Amino acid sequence: MIRLCQRPGASCGACCGLYNSRDHGREAVRAELTRRTRELRRVERTLPAFREAAARLAAAGPAPLFPTVRICPLLGFLDEAETRIGCLAHPLVTGGPDLRDAGAYDVTTCESFLCPSHAWLDDEEASLTELASGDFHLYGLVVTDVPFLRAALGAVAARTGARVERRHLEQAPFREALRRLLALKEELEPGSEGLFGAFRPGRDGEPVPRRIDYQAIDRSTSPYDQILTCVGADPRSGNDLDLLEEEVRVRLDGCAAAMRTW
Ligand code: SF4
Ligand code: SF4
Repeated sequence: MIRLCQRPGASCGACCGLYNSRDHGREAVRAELTRRTRELRRVERTLPAFREAAARLAAAGPAPLFPTVRICPLLGFLDEAETRIGCLAHPLVTGGPDLRDAGAYDVTTCESFLCPSHAWLDDEEASLTELASGDFHLYGLVVTDVPFLRAALGAVAARTGARVERRHLEQAPFREALRRLLALKEELEPGSEGLFGAFRPGRDGEPVPRRIDYQAIDRSTSPYDQILTCVGADPRSGNDLDLLEEEVRVRLDGCAAAMRTW
């Protein structure tokens, strides 16, 4: 099975509550991760000390956007340059003790949990996401939303006539153009369907299809319906459908233009 949490060029912490705050923009998320990382660096690597630090960090941290989803204060940066995120209580990080019981869940849960993307994404899709995302913030938003990723890659293929492959992402202009398209996920209103849509399973465990009610807003189905549906471009989600539709068009044009240059 592919591993998505830690890849050579990307890391994710979505299931540790990374985006579960009203302001889940890059800067706010980064500031919170830095705060935790610096504080935990000074904490003795014992369970009682980590428990106390976790409680302190959580109390001073952002309130959850969705109260039923936990935010773990032990997620932080793993490297000095603050590019890779991960669990600061994991034995590989602490250098010995497993301190994950001090977090939002417990060792068994943290050790065994794999989000549904692990069952759906193939290796190529995973590495396209890794290469195109640019950093942990966008990577985590996209890798946890398989329908969005597939809709975006499918729209690029439909526009350019070429299936997106790893070799395309070796070209910086195309990589940037695809990153811009995927970055729609970062520009949605707080609480939008599209933000956490990937975590909405039906009774059978499969994702519930999302749908824009075009009739209710008296307009025809968008040619970019799949992407727009995935990002929650429905007025009920607080997003502006026309604005997002235009953004999708412009960003797909950008992908097509970048692919044409070589
Ligand atoms: S959301 Fe999925 S990919 Fe991200 S850290 Fe959790 S299990 Fe890994
Ligand atoms: S303790 Fe568990 S929930 Fe917390 S950061 Fe580590 S893996 Fe994530």
